[in-house]
Amino acid sequence: MKKTVLITGAAKGIGRAIAIKFSKLDYKVVINYNKSYELAKQLQSELLKENKDIYICKADITKKEEIENLVNFTLEKCGSIDVLVNNAGISKANLFIEDSIDEMNEIIAVNLMGTLNVTQTVLKKYMINKKDGAIINLSSIWGITGASCEVMYSTTKAAIIGFTKSLAKEIGPSNIRVNTVAPGFIMTDMTSNYTQEEINDFKSKIPLDRVGNTDDIAGVVTFLASDDASYITGQVISPNGGVVI
Ligand code: NAP
Repeated sequence: MKKTVLITGAAKGIGRAIAIKFSKLDYKVVINYNKSYELAKQLQSELLKENKDIYICKADITKKEEIENLVNFTLEKCGSIDVLVNNAGISKANLFIEDSIDEMNEIIAVNLMGTLNVTQTVLKKYMINKKDGAIINLSSIWGITGASCEVMYSTTKAAIIGFTKSLAKEIGPSNIRVNTVAPGFIMTDMTSNYTQEEINDFKSKIPLDRVGNTDDIAGVVTFLASDDASYITGQVISPNGGVVI
């Protein structure tokens, strides 16, 4: 029987590559989007050529009611949620002393509370009773090392690692695995405001001598969801070209 994956923020960037990879592996795929309706629709049309079970669903993951709808929609359309990928995220480069309370709350609401609320809803509505599942959270190398001028972003991404480790211990006995993928520098809209000079400077510090692409991350996510990773839980895997070892 086909498995189902729910991916937050999957209309573009890393989430999009993850959706494509799961579709190729013949999963039923639910592509969550918030603002990128056109891109979600486009991706759905593309994937439907090879896989009939591709769905799109709007939900702002900072809103509890929209999360409930997203999870209900997935269960109604697909009948299960075998894999949850908490990919949606935002970043903001700022000096910490210039971060407003509203900006801090926004980044916490999406990156941290969004991930927590989606996960809790999926666990309550499906995975705990099913006693099966895999959850993959997107952190960042900045969640491991910390990053100047991205203090709030790094703080939320570090919290995701703490969340992953704690939850893995709590729900391991329910046969649910929880892992984190912590990418290095990946070319997407999120990194599009970096100048070529900044990218070259970052690249010069990467042992594999290139910045990452979205497929570098998607492959790790699908591996962590697979039976080949059946004894892996509570771990942080960081595809980063060796820049953080
Ligand atoms: P991106 O291209 O900017 O995509 C971000 C995604 O998050 C979009 O699909 C967006 O959906 C979604 N999103 C944002 N706010 C949302 C909300 N309130 N509700 C639902 N979805 C929301 O960024 P990306 O580079 O692919 O990043 C994906 C993940 O990887 C993030 O968690 C990011 O922190 C992490 N990451 C990225 C890098 C990198 O270098 N790019 C490195 C480390 C970690 P809509 O467009 O539909 O609103």
